[in-house]
This record gives sequence, structure tokens and C-alpha cells, in this order.
Amino acid sequence: MTMRKTIIAGNWKMYKTIPEAIELSSGLKRELFKLEAQNVDVVLCPPFTSLRDVYEAISDSGIQLGAQDIYWQPQGAFTGEVSAPMLKDAGCKFVIIGHSERRQFFAETNEAVNKKLKAALEYGLTPIVCVGETLSEREAGGTFKVLEDHVLNGLKDLNAQQVLGVVIAYEPVWAIGTGKTATAQQAQEAQKYIRDLLAKMYNKETAQNIRIQYGGSVKPENIREILKEPDVDGALVGGASLTVEAFVAIIKGASEVNK
Ligand code: PEP
Repeated sequence: MTMRKTIIAGNWKMYKTIPEAIELSSGLKRELFKLEAQNVDVVLCPPFTSLRDVYEAISDSGIQLGAQDIYWQPQGAFTGEVSAPMLKDAGCKFVIIGHSERRQFFAETNEAVNKKLKAALEYGLTPIVCVGETLSEREAGGTFKVLEDHVLNGLKDLNAQQVLGVVIAYEPVWAIGTGKTATAQQAQEAQKYIRDLLAKMYNKETAQNIRIQYGGSVKPENIREILKEPDVDGALVGGASLTVEAFVAIIKGASEVNK
């Protein structure tokens, strides 16, 4: 019996106009109300442009709002960036940091991830920090090394109290948007490694209380199997979070897994 509440977050990436975002989030609100999946935290991470409209659409529903990125300065001459106080202002409680697409396409480093993480925590946002290896890193036997690098440097200088306010998402890059899901065993192996590392960095009790999600082609068909693993505390979902039907089915599946 774990004390960690399951957390399912939908990363909408660069999809959905404002009317589409309102339609999806109101549809989710309606269906999740019927489902009453109170044992699952549900988070929606739309693009910046629809944060406020989604916030309004999910009001009084228990569904929570997150952003997909953040900048570490609170304000200033940083054209194109969005800060922690701005995300709070828009109604966000969560923020995804260090997604592999940001690392790959926007040259985001562990150092940047660390600064963003600290800014999010300073303003009371819960960071969802993404870590994970590419296919070539896995094939070269470097999975644990990459995880160690992402976790040690991403969480650098955080104390035990602060790290309890962080969610980690293990996302093997080769499984993101590819339809190729890691096996439940592969997810468990990596996530146990992360938890053991957290125990070394902090202490066992702290590590036991940190939620670690799996992400990478999660679908209604595979959510149960993955969530049954002891160190998998939820999922970060991309493609399958873009329709009411698929995302509700994932949450339903998650709510039915008892550990
Ligand atoms: C993601 O964007 O974090 C993700 C896991 O995407 P997908 O579910 O589409 O693989």
C-alpha cells in the first residue's frame, strides 16, 4: 500500500486552439464528474494561449492546471518567455520542466532545468521534471547513467523538503510519440533506479514520498499494466490526452489499479 496518490497529467504539446481547448476541457470535466475518480490527481497542460480558458472551463471540477514550460526570472526583458508568477496568475498549479522535446529541439540543459525548477518551487508551483534516455543511449547501456545525470543535476541544491514538492516523470525518449511503450518491467527498473538514487541523495523516507510518473505512448490499453508496478505512481500522457474518450479511459484505468 503506497501513500503516493496516482497522478495523471495530459501534455497537450502544441495542439488545440482556444475553442478546441475549451471543448476538450469541458468534455473532460463532464465525463470525470461522472467517473468520480477521487483517488487520482488529474492535471491538464495546454499551451500558454489557452491556460486561462481551460482554467475557467475546469473550475469546480477537481481537475488541475499545468503549463508546459516556464522561465526562471520572475519578469524582465526576456522576449517570448513566461514566468512563474504569470503561470500562477493564470491558475496553474503544475509546470512541466525539461520535457525531452525541449531538451532535443530547444537545447535545454540540466542547468536550465535546475533554474526553472527552483523558480517554480519558489512560487509554489509543482514541477513535473522529465528525465529519460534516448534509444542510442539505451542501446549503448547508458540508461542509468543518463538518469543519474538528469536527476542529480536537475535537482541540484534542492533540500529534502523542497524535493517533496516535485513530481518526476520518467520518459524514455524512444517511447514518446512513437507508439512504442516501454514494457512495465523497463519502466519499473528505471523508476526503481530513480527512487534508489533519491534515497541516496536525501533519505529513504523522502524517496518513498516522491511521485514518479511514467511517460511514453501511454494508452487506455496499457495504463493498468504500467501502473501496477510498485514505483510507477502515474503517467504523463501526450497523444492520448488529446481526446476526451482516450484520456477519460486512461483515468478510469488508473483509478481501478489498487496497490
Ligand atoms: C509526452 O509528451 O510526455 C508523451 C509521453 O507523449 P506520448 O504519450 O504521445 O508518447
